[in-house]
Order: sequence, then C-alpha cells, then structure tokens
Amino acid sequence: MTADSSILLIYTGGTIGMTEDPSSRALRPFDFSGIMEAVPEVRKFAVKIDTFSFDPLIDSSDVDPSLWVSLARLIKEKYDSYDGFVILHGTDTMAYSASALSFMLENLSKPVIFTGSQLPVGRPRTDGRENLVSAVEIAAAKDPEGNAMVPEVCIFFNSMLMRGNRTTKMSSDAFSAFQTPNFPPLAEAGINIRYNRDIIRRPSPEPLRVHTELDTSVSILKIHPGITPEVVGSILSGKGTRAVILETYGSGNAPSVGWFPRMVKEAAASGKILLNVTQCPSGRVDMNIYATGRSLLEAGVVSGFDSTTEAALAKLFVLMGMYPDNSDVKRSLGSNLRGEIIVD
Ligand code: ASP
Repeated sequence: MTADSSILLIYTGGTIGMTEDPSSRALRPFDFSGIMEAVPEVRKFAVKIDTFSFDPLIDSSDVDPSLWVSLARLIKEKYDSYDGFVILHGTDTMAYSASALSFMLENLSKPVIFTGSQLPVGRPRTDGRENLVSAVEIAAAKDPEGNAMVPEVCIFFNSMLMRGNRTTKMSSDAFSAFQTPNFPPLAEAGINIRYNRDIIRRPSPEPLRVHTELDTSVSILKIHPGITPEVVGSILSGKGTRAVILETYGSGNAPSVGWFPRMVKEAAASGKILLNVTQCPSGRVDMNIYATGRSLLEAGVVSGFDSTTEAALAKLFVLMGMYPDNSDVKRSLGSNLRGEIIVD
C-alpha cells in the first residue's frame, strides 16, 4: 500500500453503526463519528480517509434504487479524487446494492468495497471492526504496476472479499453472512490479505461510464409446488411488468404440463422478458437437461446461467434503463458484463 492512497468512506447506515434505542431497545443508526471513535485502527493506515455520510442513515431494508443512483453519482463526482471507495451498508440488501453498482459503474478502474457487520461496532464481540479495517486496506491496495489491486465492486465480510454481483446473504446471524456459491472469493484476509489475482478483473483503460437510468418494472416469480394460475397470471401479465425473473427448480426446471407452460408461452409471445434463474443457492441453469426445462426454453425464456437473483434483478434494471427495445435487453442478458455469469 502506498502512503499516498486516498479513500472515500461512505456511510449509508446499517447495523455496523447502530445503537440501541433506550426506550424500545430496537437498533437504530447513529452518526458517523461514533463509528470512527469505535474503530480508531482505520486511521493507522498510511491512507488519507475522507468521509461522506448519507442523511438520513437507513436500515438497508429501506434501500431503494434511488440510493444506488445517489451512490453512483457520488462515486462519479469523486472518482478522480480518490483511489478507492468503501461503502458502509446494512447487510439485508447489501448483495442487491453491490450487484446494482457493479452494473451501473461501467469501465471501473478503482475498488468499490461494500462492508457492514452483524453486530454494531460498539459491541465487544463486533465483527464491524475487522470488516471495516480490512475493507479500507483492500480499497487502498495497489499492484506492483500501481494499479488498483481490485478494480471491482465487491463485498468484504468475515475475512472474505467477494465479487459483489456473485454474493447472496446466506445467514441472518452468522458472522459469515455472505457467500458466493458459484464463484471463488477474490481475496481472503488472514495475517496477510491473499489476493486471487487470476480471477480479479483488470482495470478498464476506458473512462468510467455511469448508468443511472434504471427501469425497475421487474417482478420475481418463485415457482413452488401448489402455485396457482391466479398468482402466476397476475405476475406474468402484470401491467407495469416488463420483465419477470423465474426462480425455477434445480437446473432451470418448472412444471411442463397444463396451464403453467401455456401461461409462460403467452407471456413470452406478448414480448415480456422472462429470465430463468435457479432457486438453488449454487449451480446453474441449463434448460437442455430435462424436458421440464426445455419447455421453458421453447417458450422463449432466457437463461440466467449461474446468476444470483440479486444480480439478475440489477442487470435487468440497468439494461432496461439503457434499451427501450426488449430484444436488445434479451441479447445483453446472455453476455457476461461484469463477471456476474459464466456463459456456456
Ligand atoms: N437490518 C440491518 C440492515 O440491513 C441488518 C444489518 O445491517 O446487518 O441495515
């Protein structure tokens, strides 16, 4: 790490900076100075750290895409002034926000590292201190050529640096809250931080391009035994819905007889974008394996390959904001844009 690295530490809210409300005992965010007091170690790096705090600070269950637009604009505005960005964010929707920023920030050459914690920094057994300190070190790290070591949108949590659009929150109470079941960690923090350089994306030589036009008219339909035609019909033919993510069984399978395939076919024929993502935490969609998957393929459903649902949603928001024509969106869905999928 060079002595002249500079980081912008952005605080949006989340458990890391929460304290107990004395009357209700519920956790609420407190101000940023409290975090810096609780984690004085971050000031020990030879890194200049400036801070930016959102107002109001929020529990990340209250995140909506307007926060992503604000974050993307802030990073764009400050891009040339800093070597990296650390975003403190609640864990509940962190995988969504990290996925969204990965697609909104095109041609990234600097790190954008999300982190947070399961226990507030004021608690003796907090995980927030280690998460914050390592996130800052990673955001400031340079390779021997002086480029950012990790020019990607990532989540750092519980000793692991993960590609943001590959993560899912897997535990509500373990310190290892996030996993990337379909992709190895980009780095692991032990005594040293060991970077997995073969899989970290290279910095883009192109100028940063920021996509803030999002089209959020997407619904998620999780298939389950006993699902009714009324529920499926209301989602697939929803007026404000341009795309539907089908969370299917196993390798991309869904009921293949009766009303279900008929409804899917009608929705696809009407021009809706239908994207197939497996509801299994790991593995990928391959609609050619079973007849029950093939019927979706034949109906015009697009494969999400090994995408998380969070990445699929974010990718659709951004692509639909970019392209008015659904066939352009469908074509781009099949491309690996930010390391979010491996295409067959
Ligand atoms: N509800 C909190 C949030 O997402 C949980 C956390 O930060 O861990 O803001």
